[in-house]
Amino acid sequence: MSSGKAFFIDTTRCTACRGCQIACKQWHQLPATKTHNWGNMQNPEDLSYDTYKLVRFQEHNGPDNKPVWHFFPDQCRHCLKPTCKEAVEGEVSGGIIIDRQTGAVLFTDKLKETDPDNVINACPFEIPKALKETGAMAKCTMCVDRVHNGLLPACVKTCPTGAMNFGDRDEMAKMARERLAEVETRFPMATLTGLNDLRVFYLLSDAPKRYYTYASADLPPARMDRKTALRKIGRSFNDFTREWRIFG
Ligand code: SF4
Ligand code: SF4
Repeated sequence: MSSGKAFFIDTTRCTACRGCQIACKQWHQLPATKTHNWGNMQNPEDLSYDTYKLVRFQEHNGPDNKPVWHFFPDQCRHCLKPTCKEAVEGEVSGGIIIDRQTGAVLFTDKLKETDPDNVINACPFEIPKALKETGAMAKCTMCVDRVHNGLLPACVKTCPTGAMNFGDRDEMAKMARERLAEVETRFPMATLTGLNDLRVFYLLSDAPKRYYTYASADLPPARMDRKTALRKIGRSFNDFTREWRIFG
Protein backbone atom coordinates (compact mmCIF):
# COMPACT_ATOMS: atom_id res chain seq x y z
CA MET A 1 0.00 0.00 0.00
CA SER A 2 1.16 3.52 -0.69
CA SER A 3 1.12 5.99 2.18
CA GLY A 4 -2.65 5.88 1.83
CA LYS A 5 -4.92 8.79 2.59
CA ALA A 6 -5.23 11.29 5.44
CA PHE A 7 -7.20 14.29 6.64
CA PHE A 8 -5.65 17.60 7.56
CA ILE A 9 -8.07 19.47 9.84
CA ASP A 10 -7.05 23.10 10.25
CA THR A 11 -9.00 24.27 13.29
CA THR A 12 -7.69 27.82 12.80
CA ARG A 13 -10.03 27.99 9.79
CA CYS A 14 -13.01 26.27 11.44
CA THR A 15 -16.02 28.51 12.11
CA ALA A 16 -18.14 25.72 13.64
CA CYS A 17 -20.75 26.00 10.90
CA ARG A 18 -21.20 22.23 11.35
CA GLY A 19 -21.58 21.69 7.63
CA CYS A 20 -19.27 18.67 7.97
CA GLN A 21 -21.44 17.20 10.71
CA ILE A 22 -24.59 17.52 8.59
CA ALA A 23 -22.93 16.32 5.36
CA CYS A 24 -21.79 13.18 7.18
CA LYS A 25 -25.35 12.49 8.34
CA GLN A 26 -26.71 13.11 4.84
CA TRP A 27 -24.25 10.87 2.99
CA HIS A 28 -24.63 7.99 5.43
CA GLN A 29 -28.40 8.52 5.75
CA LEU A 30 -28.14 8.71 9.52
CA PRO A 31 -31.12 9.93 11.53
CA ALA A 32 -31.07 13.11 13.57
CA THR A 33 -29.98 12.63 17.16
CA LYS A 34 -32.39 13.70 19.88
CA THR A 35 -30.67 16.35 21.96
CA HIS A 36 -31.36 19.18 24.40
CA ASN A 37 -29.81 22.42 25.60
CA TRP A 38 -27.19 21.17 28.01
CA GLY A 39 -25.45 24.52 28.53
CA ASN A 40 -23.11 24.43 25.59
CA MET A 41 -23.42 25.44 21.93
CA GLN A 42 -22.16 21.97 20.95
CA ASN A 43 -24.88 19.58 19.87
CA PRO A 44 -25.39 16.71 20.25
CA GLU A 45 -23.45 16.09 23.43
CA ASP A 46 -21.27 13.31 22.04
CA LEU A 47 -20.56 11.07 19.07
CA SER A 48 -22.98 8.15 18.82
CA TYR A 49 -24.00 5.18 16.72
CA ASP A 50 -25.81 7.73 14.52
CA THR A 51 -23.25 10.56 14.68
CA TYR A 52 -19.83 9.87 13.19
CA LYS A 53 -18.70 13.49 13.16
CA LEU A 54 -19.13 16.13 15.84
CA VAL A 55 -17.85 19.70 16.08
CA ARG A 56 -16.91 20.06 19.74
CA PHE A 57 -17.04 23.49 21.40
CA GLN A 58 -14.92 24.80 24.27
CA GLU A 59 -15.16 28.34 25.64
CA HIS A 60 -12.18 29.97 27.38
CA ASN A 61 -11.23 33.39 28.67
CA GLY A 62 -8.89 35.12 26.24
CA PRO A 63 -5.89 37.23 27.33
CA ASP A 64 -8.08 40.38 27.25
CA ASN A 65 -10.79 38.57 29.22
CA LYS A 66 -12.96 38.23 26.13
CA PRO A 67 -14.35 34.76 25.38
CA VAL A 68 -12.39 32.58 22.98
CA TRP A 69 -13.99 29.62 21.26
CA HIS A 70 -12.09 26.47 20.36
CA PHE A 71 -13.78 24.27 17.75
CA PHE A 72 -12.75 20.65 17.27
CA PRO A 73 -14.27 18.56 14.44
CA ASP A 74 -14.02 15.13 16.06
CA GLN A 75 -13.96 11.81 14.17
CA CYS A 76 -12.09 8.49 14.01
CA ARG A 77 -8.34 9.10 13.51
CA HIS A 78 -7.89 5.95 11.34
CA CYS A 79 -4.78 5.05 13.34
CA LEU A 80 -1.85 3.49 11.46
CA LYS A 81 -1.79 0.72 14.10
CA PRO A 82 -5.34 0.82 15.45
CA THR A 83 -5.68 -0.43 19.03
CA CYS A 84 -9.40 -1.08 18.46
CA LYS A 85 -8.38 -3.71 15.90
CA GLU A 86 -5.64 -4.99 18.15
CA ALA A 87 -8.10 -5.49 21.02
CA VAL A 88 -10.39 -7.82 19.03
CA GLU A 89 -7.77 -9.58 16.94
CA GLY A 90 -7.77 -13.32 17.52
CA GLU A 91 -11.27 -13.13 18.97
CA VAL A 92 -13.20 -11.89 15.94
CA SER A 93 -11.16 -12.27 12.79
CA GLY A 94 -12.28 -9.65 10.27
CA GLY A 95 -14.25 -7.64 12.82
CA ILE A 96 -12.10 -4.60 12.06
CA ILE A 97 -10.31 -4.35 8.75
CA ILE A 98 -7.95 -1.88 7.11
CA ASP A 99 -8.83 -0.77 3.59
CA ARG A 100 -5.81 -1.45 1.36
CA GLN A 101 -6.32 1.53 -0.91
CA THR A 102 -6.77 4.27 1.68
CA GLY A 103 -5.68 2.83 5.05
CA ALA A 104 -9.17 3.51 6.47
CA VAL A 105 -10.00 1.49 9.59
CA LEU A 106 -13.42 -0.11 9.02
CA PHE A 107 -15.83 -1.89 11.36
CA THR A 108 -17.69 -4.91 9.96
CA ASP A 109 -20.84 -6.77 11.06
CA LYS A 110 -18.61 -9.44 12.60
CA LEU A 111 -17.98 -7.06 15.50
CA LYS A 112 -21.38 -8.14 16.86
CA GLU A 113 -19.60 -11.34 17.93
CA THR A 114 -17.52 -9.48 20.50
CA ASP A 115 -18.29 -7.49 23.63
CA PRO A 116 -18.52 -3.85 22.47
CA ASP A 117 -16.57 -2.59 25.45
CA ASN A 118 -13.50 -4.43 24.13
CA VAL A 119 -13.56 -2.05 21.18
CA ILE A 120 -14.88 1.07 22.90
CA ASN A 121 -12.32 1.11 25.64
CA ALA A 122 -9.36 0.18 23.47
CA CYS A 123 -9.65 3.44 21.54
CA PRO A 124 -7.53 6.24 23.01
CA PHE A 125 -9.80 8.84 21.39
CA GLU A 126 -13.21 7.65 22.70
CA ILE A 127 -14.52 7.13 19.17
CA PRO A 128 -16.38 3.80 18.75
CA LYS A 129 -20.04 3.75 19.77
CA ALA A 130 -22.47 0.83 20.06
CA LEU A 131 -26.19 0.37 19.70
CA LYS A 132 -27.33 -1.20 22.96
CA GLU A 133 -30.06 -3.38 21.49
CA THR A 134 -27.90 -5.15 18.91
CA GLY A 135 -24.28 -4.50 19.87
CA ALA A 136 -23.70 -3.11 16.37
CA MET A 137 -20.87 -0.60 16.28
CA ALA A 138 -20.26 2.46 14.14
CA LYS A 139 -17.85 5.30 13.54
CA CYS A 140 -16.39 7.37 10.68
CA THR A 141 -15.71 5.23 7.59
CA MET A 142 -13.44 7.77 5.84
CA CYS A 143 -16.27 7.68 3.26
CA VAL A 144 -14.35 4.92 1.47
CA ASP A 145 -17.33 4.38 -0.84
CA ARG A 146 -16.85 7.94 -2.12
CA VAL A 147 -13.03 7.89 -2.08
CA HIS A 148 -12.89 4.63 -4.08
CA ASN A 149 -14.90 6.43 -6.74
CA GLY A 150 -12.67 9.48 -6.90
CA LEU A 151 -14.78 11.68 -4.62
CA LEU A 152 -13.79 13.55 -1.48
CA PRO A 153 -15.27 12.47 1.87
CA ALA A 154 -18.61 14.22 2.34
CA CYS A 155 -17.38 16.30 5.29
CA VAL A 156 -14.40 17.58 3.30
CA LYS A 157 -16.42 18.28 0.16
CA THR A 158 -18.86 20.47 2.07
CA CYS A 159 -16.42 22.50 4.20
CA PRO A 160 -16.57 26.12 2.99
CA THR A 161 -13.50 27.47 4.85
CA GLY A 162 -10.69 25.05 4.01
CA ALA A 163 -10.64 23.62 7.54
CA MET A 164 -11.27 20.08 6.23
CA ASN A 165 -8.69 18.73 3.78
CA PHE A 166 -8.13 15.22 2.41
CA GLY A 167 -5.60 13.56 0.13
CA ASP A 168 -2.49 11.41 0.01
CA ARG A 169 -1.03 11.13 3.50
CA ASP A 170 2.36 12.57 2.53
CA GLU A 171 0.74 15.57 0.85
CA MET A 172 -1.51 16.21 3.84
CA ALA A 173 1.49 16.07 6.18
CA LYS A 174 3.30 18.61 3.99
CA MET A 175 0.23 20.85 3.89
CA ALA A 176 -0.07 20.65 7.69
CA ARG A 177 3.57 21.62 8.29
CA GLU A 178 3.36 24.53 5.85
CA ARG A 179 0.18 25.83 7.46
CA LEU A 180 1.73 25.55 10.94
CA ALA A 181 4.63 27.73 9.75
CA GLU A 182 2.11 30.28 8.44
CA VAL A 183 0.14 30.62 11.67
CA GLU A 184 2.90 30.32 14.28
CA THR A 185 3.35 34.07 14.62
CA ARG A 186 -0.35 34.59 15.23
CA PHE A 187 -0.68 31.52 17.47
CA PRO A 188 2.61 30.90 19.36
CA MET A 189 1.09 27.81 21.05
CA ALA A 190 0.05 26.27 17.72
CA THR A 191 0.74 22.56 17.37
CA LEU A 192 0.16 19.64 14.99
CA THR A 193 -1.15 16.28 16.15
CA GLY A 194 -1.19 12.85 14.52
CA LEU A 195 1.69 13.14 12.05
CA ASN A 196 3.48 10.03 13.39
CA ASP A 197 0.61 7.66 14.16
CA LEU A 198 -2.65 8.67 12.56
CA ARG A 199 -4.51 9.49 9.37
CA VAL A 200 -6.10 12.61 10.84
CA PHE A 201 -3.81 15.56 11.51
CA TYR A 202 -5.10 18.51 13.51
CA LEU A 203 -3.63 21.99 13.55
CA LEU A 204 -4.54 23.44 16.94
CA SER A 205 -3.88 27.04 17.99
CA ASP A 206 -3.67 26.07 21.67
CA ALA A 207 -2.82 23.05 23.83
CA PRO A 208 -4.86 19.97 22.75
CA LYS A 209 -6.54 19.54 26.15
CA ARG A 210 -7.97 23.07 25.80
CA TYR A 211 -9.96 21.77 22.84
CA TYR A 212 -11.14 18.43 24.19
CA THR A 213 -9.92 15.81 26.67
CA TYR A 214 -9.26 13.30 23.91
CA ALA A 215 -8.08 15.72 21.22
CA SER A 216 -4.75 13.90 21.42
CA ALA A 217 -3.87 10.59 23.05
CA ASP A 218 -1.77 10.34 26.20
CA LEU A 219 -0.37 7.14 24.74
CA PRO A 220 0.34 7.21 21.01
CA PRO A 221 -1.67 4.36 19.42
CA ALA A 222 1.32 2.99 17.50
CA ARG A 223 3.03 2.26 20.77
CA MET A 224 0.06 0.75 22.62
CA ASP A 225 0.07 -3.06 22.50
CA ARG A 226 -2.84 -5.45 23.13
CA LYS A 227 -2.01 -5.81 26.81
CA THR A 228 -1.99 -2.06 27.31
CA ALA A 229 -5.20 -1.71 25.34
CA LEU A 230 -6.93 -4.25 27.56
CA ARG A 231 -5.58 -2.60 30.71
CA LYS A 232 -7.17 0.60 29.47
CA ILE A 233 -10.56 -1.15 29.55
CA GLY A 234 -10.32 -1.36 33.33
CA ARG A 235 -9.21 2.25 33.63
CA SER A 236 -12.10 3.72 31.74
CA PHE A 237 -14.85 1.25 32.58
CA ASN A 238 -16.79 3.92 34.48
CA ASP A 239 -16.83 6.14 31.42
CA PHE A 240 -18.32 3.24 29.53
CA THR A 241 -21.62 3.52 31.43
CA ARG A 242 -21.90 7.12 30.22
CA GLU A 243 -21.60 6.04 26.59
CA TRP A 244 -23.69 2.90 26.76
CA ARG A 245 -27.00 4.42 25.83
CA ILE A 246 -29.84 3.87 23.45
CA PHE A 247 -29.33 6.26 20.55
CA GLY A 248 -31.92 7.42 18.05
S1 SF4 B 1 -9.32 6.37 16.52
FE1 SF4 B 1 -10.07 4.67 17.77
S2 SF4 B 1 -11.67 3.71 16.52
FE2 SF4 B 1 -10.44 4.97 15.16
S3 SF4 B 1 -8.86 3.55 14.32
FE3 SF4 B 1 -7.96 4.59 16.11
S4 SF4 B 1 -8.36 3.17 17.80
FE4 SF4 B 1 -9.75 2.59 16.13
S1 SF4 C 1 -15.05 10.93 6.30
FE1 SF4 C 1 -17.23 10.46 5.86
S2 SF4 C 1 -17.83 9.14 7.61
FE2 SF4 C 1 -15.95 10.21 8.25
S3 SF4 C 1 -16.63 12.08 9.30
FE3 SF4 C 1 -16.29 12.64 7.13
S4 SF4 C 1 -18.32 12.40 6.17
FE4 SF4 C 1 -18.39 11.28 8.13
